[in-house]
Amino acid sequence: MANPFDNAMKQLDQAAEIIGDNDRLEELRKPNKILQAEIEIDMDDGTKKKFPAYRVQYNNNCGPYKGGIRFHPKVDLDEVKALSFWMTIKTAVVEIPMGGGKGGIEVDPKQLSQTELEKLSRGFVKEFYKDLGPDKDVPAPDVNTNSQIMDWMVDEYGKLTGKPQPAMITGKSIEAGGSLGRATATADGGFFILKEIVKELGVLPEDLTVVVQGYGNAGANMVDLMYNAGFKVIGVSDSKNAVIDPTKQGFDTNIIKAIKQNHGSLDVCIGNETDKCQIVHDAMPPHKILEADADILVLAALENQITEENVKEIKARFIIELANGPITPEADQLLNDRGMLIIPDVLANAGGVTVSYFEWKQNMENQKWTEQEVKEKLKPIILDAYNNTRDVARKHNISLRTAAFVSAIKKVCLTGE
Ligand code: GLU
Repeated sequence: MANPFDNAMKQLDQAAEIIGDNDRLEELRKPNKILQAEIEIDMDDGTKKKFPAYRVQYNNNCGPYKGGIRFHPKVDLDEVKALSFWMTIKTAVVEIPMGGGKGGIEVDPKQLSQTELEKLSRGFVKEFYKDLGPDKDVPAPDVNTNSQIMDWMVDEYGKLTGKPQPAMITGKSIEAGGSLGRATATADGGFFILKEIVKELGVLPEDLTVVVQGYGNAGANMVDLMYNAGFKVIGVSDSKNAVIDPTKQGFDTNIIKAIKQNHGSLDVCIGNETDKCQIVHDAMPPHKILEADADILVLAALENQITEENVKEIKARFIIELANGPITPEADQLLNDRGMLIIPDVLANAGGVTVSYFEWKQNMENQKWTEQEVKEKLKPIILDAYNNTRDVARKHNISLRTAAFVSAIKKVCLTGE
C-alpha cells in the first residue's frame, strides 16, 4: 500500500516544479511537531487495553493548527502526517487564518462500547491537552468521529484546564457550542463546486448519473444534496457493500438512507430482506463502486482508493474527492492524461474546515450564526477558491490539484514574501 505521506510529498514536488523555488518549500516537507502516546483504558470486561494515538502539528504559519481526529484500525503516523500536511494546504486554499494539523487513534471504534469510546476520547485529551487550545491547536471530527466525541473532548479539556473553552475544538453538538451547518459543511462545499461546474458545462443535473463511494458524514450528505438537486444517484457504497442500479434510472436515496439508518449497513439489501430492499438491484463488494459506469464519481471514503492497479477500470468522466488522498499520484497522472476532471480533496472537501473556522470564530466572539448565515458565508469562500484554482490551472496548463497546491503555497501567510 502506498505510503500516504510519500504521496503527499510527490504532490508537493509537482507544485514545486511550477513554483521553481525549492528553498521556500523546505519548511513544508516536515511537520513542526509530532505528539505520540499509548492511551490505556479500562475495558468493560475488566481488562486494560492500549491504543496508539497521534497528533501531528504540521504548520501554523497562517494560524493555530487545525484538523480532525480519526479513529480507525489503519491509522498510523505516516497517515496522520499526510493528513496534517493536506490540512495545511487546504486551509491556505480557502484562505482561513488557520494552519494544518491532524490526529488519530489506531482503533476500530465499532468494537468499543459507548463507555469505552468515551474513555478513549477523554484519554486523547488527557495525553495531549497541553499542546491543544483555541490559539494553539483546534481539533475536529474526521473518519469515525462525531459531535458526541467532540463534546466529550471539550468537556475533558475544560476539566483539565479549570474552565470551559468551547473554541478548543470544532464539530461539537449545537448544545455544546457547535455551529449550525457544520454537520453538512463538507458536502455543501463540494456541492457548491459541482453546481458551478455543471453550470459551466451547460448540462442539467437530470442528465448526469453519479455514484458515491463512502456513506459516512460527507458521502451521505452529498447523496442527499445531489438527489434533491435532480442528479441520478445510481450507486452508493459503505465499507461492506456497494449497491448499483444497472438500469441507471437512479435510486430514491431516501430509501437507501432509511435502510442504512435502520440496519447500520447496506448489506441487508442482499436477498431483499424487506420490501424497501427490493429497489436495490445489485449488491456487490464495495470497491466495485469505483468501476461503475456513471458520469460522476464521488470519493468519500479513505485514501489510496484509485491506484495504478484499478485506474484502468474507472469509467466516470468527472471525480470529486470528498475524502482526503483517495487517488495515488501515479493514478492521478494517468487520469489527468486521459483528460479526467478531478476536483481535488484540498478544494472539494474544504467546506468542512471552513465551517469549523466559523464555529471557532463564533465561540471566540460569543456569537451564534443562523444556518443560512453559515451557508451564505461558506459559498463565496468555496467558489472564490475554486475560481482561483481553475484560473491557475488554465494559466499553467496543470491539473486542479497542482494548481490548488501552487496557489496555497503562494499565499503570503504560508510561504509567500
Ligand atoms: N476532518 C476534516 C478535514 O479533513 C475537517 C477538519 C476540521 O474541521 O478542522 O478537512
